[in-house]
Amino acid sequence: MSTSQLHIALLAFPFGSHATPLLSLVQKLSPFLPSNTLFSFFNTSQSNTSIFSKSSKPQNIKIYNVWDGIIETNGTTPIGREAIELFIKATPSNFEKVMKEAEEESGVKFSCILSDAFLWFSSKLAEKMNVPWIALWTAGSGSLSVHLYTDLIRSNKETLSTIPGFSSTLRISDMPPEVVAENLEGPMPSMLYNMALNLHKATAVVLNSFEELDPVINNDLESKLRKVLNIGPLVLQSSKKIDLDVNSDESGCIFWLEKQKEKSVVYLSFGTVTTLPPNEIVAVAEALEAKRVPFLWSLRENGVKILPKGFLERTKEFGKIVSWAPQLEILAHCSVGVFVTHCGWNSILEGISYGVPMICRPFFGDQKLNSRMVESVWQIGLQIDGGSFAKSGTMSALDTFFNEDKGKVLRQNVEGLKERALEAVKSDGSSTKNFKNLMELVK
Ligand code: UDP
Repeated sequence: MSTSQLHIALLAFPFGSHATPLLSLVQKLSPFLPSNTLFSFFNTSQSNTSIFSKSSKPQNIKIYNVWDGIIETNGTTPIGREAIELFIKATPSNFEKVMKEAEEESGVKFSCILSDAFLWFSSKLAEKMNVPWIALWTAGSGSLSVHLYTDLIRSNKETLSTIPGFSSTLRISDMPPEVVAENLEGPMPSMLYNMALNLHKATAVVLNSFEELDPVINNDLESKLRKVLNIGPLVLQSSKKIDLDVNSDESGCIFWLEKQKEKSVVYLSFGTVTTLPPNEIVAVAEALEAKRVPFLWSLRENGVKILPKGFLERTKEFGKIVSWAPQLEILAHCSVGVFVTHCGWNSILEGISYGVPMICRPFFGDQKLNSRMVESVWQIGLQIDGGSFAKSGTMSALDTFFNEDKGKVLRQNVEGLKERALEAVKSDGSSTKNFKNLMELVK
């Protein structure tokens, strides 16, 4: 079996928006590596279908389906947490089996494992194969840091303010639930805890962020890990230039935005997984209607059904609802004034990359921590009053951005961060340098 050719094993975590950034990274790496480099992409069949239907794939990437851990029983397919837990229980043997097949089929041994950081067992696989393990952390530096501090946080909950880089307003309730779970034995907490214990073995940890966003946290991470490479925001890289052409605007969002005043529109989106509870959908709708503020809402069919009777008709002059929005194009559009978000990392970074301040309604995972960073550390937005949408709290959050000086300050702050992000991806910027470093490691 050949060892002279590069063969990179890509191991994806198939839930939420995890697999897409891994694919974006391969697409970015591929042109800079020898043309005969092989990429084998390991992911569940469902996630592969979803991400490869949206994105073109480089010719030298081969897609493999790994078992999702589901044993067909009475025809009901597990979803949500149950599906995640079944998948975790199936690791690592589900990956190992198909990885072996990929080596045999290609006749080329793996030269590197590039995996989602969640898949910490990659460290063991890489050790066995005697190849480097590069871990991709698909969220921000802050959430990576609190995972690495799991033991400290669990042993003394008063220590939060001593973790470098967080403002003193950080609370235990902002922590990812896995860090503070009652016990660490459940599939998710144990996966993330093992990740925290093993990440120092990675040749490098790659983040879709930029150093200038969290300099203190990054310095601290560098003292704990072998190499920390912030290479983002990936959305600002040249191959991903935004197309604001109304002709390729299937949802009609750009056409609609073109007719709105500068910075006047509220854009609402809660990512790929989260659905707002019905009472909150109603509260948001009532607030938008009462304020008569132009809005563009990414709301799936099941959410539309919950809207107050007659809402669509009464708001059609100033509102638009789509089931899936071209989020990057929208955030890049000058008509958008504020982004109402669930604080998934991609959404946060996209908001920053296009200089749009945020109203945060976080749900799970790293979202509460991201929301706290938005409000207290970066000061580029605010958390919704009381933690969930009520009509009055939503109206007053909107007032902050459209009627108060505070909104101007938050907007200036996010525009400042956007400039730093743009600097980071320039040819001599920090993310570009880190990317070159990553390329050398992969080679
Ligand atoms: N997104 C989009 N259109 C939508 C909703 C979401 O393009 O209508 C994209 C968004 O740009 C982001 C991703 O889906 O890149 C959501 O990722 P995030 O990390 O914010 O949240 P998650 O889906 O993981 O909860």
